[in-house]
Amino acid sequence: MKIAVLPGDGIGTEIVAEAVKVLDVLDLKFELESALVGGAAYEAHGHPLPEATLKLAKESDAVLFGAVGDWKYDKLDRPLRPEQAILGLRKNLGLFANFRPAICYEQLVDASSLKPELIAGLDILIIRELTGDIYFGQPRGRRTATDGHFPGAEEAFDTMRYSRPEVERIARVAFEAARKRSKRVTSVDKANVLETFQFWKDIVTEVGKEYPDVELDHMYVDNAAMQLVKAPKKFDVVVTGNMFGDILSDEAAMLTGSIGMLPSASLNSSNQGLYEPSHGSAPDIAGKGVANPLATILSAAMMLRFSLNQPEAADRIESAVKHVLASGLRTGDIWSEGTKRVGTREMGDAVVAAITKKTITG
Ligand code: NAD
Repeated sequence: MKIAVLPGDGIGTEIVAEAVKVLDVLDLKFELESALVGGAAYEAHGHPLPEATLKLAKESDAVLFGAVGDWKYDKLDRPLRPEQAILGLRKNLGLFANFRPAICYEQLVDASSLKPELIAGLDILIIRELTGDIYFGQPRGRRTATDGHFPGAEEAFDTMRYSRPEVERIARVAFEAARKRSKRVTSVDKANVLETFQFWKDIVTEVGKEYPDVELDHMYVDNAAMQLVKAPKKFDVVVTGNMFGDILSDEAAMLTGSIGMLPSASLNSSNQGLYEPSHGSAPDIAGKGVANPLATILSAAMMLRFSLNQPEAADRIESAVKHVLASGLRTGDIWSEGTKRVGTREMGDAVVAAITKKTITG
């Protein structure tokens, strides 16, 4: 099994180091190879996704990614900005399914802005389609309007589009994921207004017939945004398009209170995947040794489960994280009165200790 390790910028290097430490104690045979990506790659090679990094990612079973970006690169031409590396990897690896679990750990219930009774025990999975929708649809651009409310005025336009195979494959991913959970899928659309999403809804319904054991319901995106804060535990697996998924997955993630806890995975059709924390490179705290490494460590657990077929090792990591939280250790972002504040490295060490002392059985 080969893993490409791409720490990136800012806190990326600090948090990925902790995840690698955790992988190292699992007694599994991995080949880990690191490469530069993002701003670090731009500084060294003049491009955020150099050929060598892309080659390594392509020939690996999985990519463990930290984060990229820094405000100092904001003035660069768009193709050279660090964030373009993620788009390049998604495109070149054919990553089309983004998994974002939102889990509320018992010990962190108070970190949420919602009442504890609404959030305690929350465990939902948002699956966002990554290749289609209004983000990539052509044509797009600026022009002079020839019709509409202001003919002759300057206007901008994008195209929302989905093809049948794109919707079928993401629907299958969602139904398969639901089979491993509580067998419920909510498909989120805007079929009442958008042709593209009536098409989406029809196809998800068709694919759903292949999964009679999974309960399917449909919800309009505006209602879904409301229900996520009103009664989030109603959901289990949520599947939706690229734009709605972008917004709803951030909303769901923040229900749990801390961005430092949230892993994510982006998969292609051969289960090769890119695994990364949901947060960015946090330049404001980079180099201070205070970043929470748990989102990255939990992303490594997702990598073991989805791309490397090591579900028991994934369980061991997830149990170790719960154990460490139960023991009262907290990085600054999740610290509260009565808990012990620790740095990035100590948090990683504590997870390693929980695994190696075999206090955790998985
Ligand atoms: P961010 O997620 O980096 O930070 C937002 C806030 O959360 C900051 O206050 C930060 O200190 C805190 N935070 C984030 N991760 C944390 C962790 N593990 N532990 C403790 N605190 C944490 O978002 P931003 O500030 O909007 O963006 C910073 C840079 O990251 C930008 O250049 C942006 O483009 C980039 N970015 C990259 C990715 C990615 O690599 N996938 C995603 C989002 C943003």
